[in-house]
Amino acid sequence: MTDPPHRILYAVIELRRLTKRYGDTLALDGLSFAVEPGHVTGFLGPNGAGKSTAMRLILGLDAPTSGQALVNGRRYALLSKPMREVGALLDAGAVHPGRSAYNQLLALARSNDITPTRVAEVLEQVGLAGVARKRVGGFSLGMKQRLGIAAALLGDPGVLIFDEPVNGLDPDGVRWIRDLMRSLAAEGRTILLSSHLMSEMALTADRIVIIGRGKLIAATTIAGLTARYPSLEDAYMSLTAGSVTNGAAR
Ligand code: ADP
Repeated sequence: MTDPPHRILYAVIELRRLTKRYGDTLALDGLSFAVEPGHVTGFLGPNGAGKSTAMRLILGLDAPTSGQALVNGRRYALLSKPMREVGALLDAGAVHPGRSAYNQLLALARSNDITPTRVAEVLEQVGLAGVARKRVGGFSLGMKQRLGIAAALLGDPGVLIFDEPVNGLDPDGVRWIRDLMRSLAAEGRTILLSSHLMSEMALTADRIVIIGRGKLIAATTIAGLTARYPSLEDAYMSLTAGSVTNGAAR
């Protein structure tokens, strides 16, 4: 008898009843959803909905109170070469100001068994090759965003997570990010992207996960939403109407 064919039993990114409590705040409340390859999946929700918390848990930067956040079926901590499986841009401001862009990435590459050739490649890909030897402290926010994206791409991962990557970018930069996200998805990668800019999200993503107060509100396609509402913005406003916290404690 032959072995049954290998079947993938997990999604590339999967949250299973993920709950995270900070003191009295329930940041994530039994959140479950899956993100599939080959698409840009937009991650939306009002301020305080739990988007950053969910991304941090997927990346093993914090531990869940209960439930699971899995990448390729495993917790981040159990990935043998994490940078080769998942790359992320969470806080573009978190850079070492005294280092050059090249040295910043080289340090990351060395600690992850990645070659200097790859460092040069990603700097070229994000348009920073010309300033690679300049100190990051003098970079504009847009340049820091590009550097953060270069770091995410360094291990050539199949899964990419971007938290507000277009913040502070000029229209050229916004379009560049949009094209990059779409081309990374077209290569079969899994892209999870948060942004507050609905019109930009409608142009960049093809699937959408909306959360509010740590819970799932919708996981669907942009086409599905815009068939039912005049625009993604209208859909978002209507679906999240009961979930806006205005930062108030819950
Ligand atoms: P979003 O990214 O959707 O704006 P967050 O994940 O940042 O939402 O926050 C979700 C909730 O968890 C908020 O009420 C926030 O104040 C709280 N929170 C997030 N991180 C922490 C933390 N480290 N300590 C305490 N509360 C936190």
